[in-house]
Amino acid sequence: MRHMATDDGWTLATETPTWDGPYFGRFGVLAEGPEGDAVQCHVCGDWYVKLGTHANASHHLGADAYRQAFGLRKSTALASTSYRAKARQRVAHLITPEQQSGHRESVH
Ligand SMILES: [Zn+2]
Repeated sequence: MRHMATDDGWTLATETPTWDGPYFGRFGVLAEGPEGDAVQCHVCGDWYVKLGTHANASHHLGADAYRQAFGLRKSTALASTSYRAKARQRVAHLITPEQQSGHRESVH
């Protein structure tokens, strides 16, 4: 664990990055597009909705390995804000009040 003060005043508590090659963006920061619809891959600099899937397929970096390599928090999702919002909506839609009460009544 170490603290990095960046030139725009952010103080970031990150894991120690282990990546030693060239990279895009910054260690400890997952760059996100202005629309919140994509995040930037540190390895190749391209933008992806689901970075975790891309990093695994193209760079052989699993989500945990990617976070460790670039000093991201373990809680950082490797996906765009808009994608995560849609995923939350799907989950909320699946669990309806009817299903919740029906589940309770079925317990004898
Ligand atoms: Zn990449």
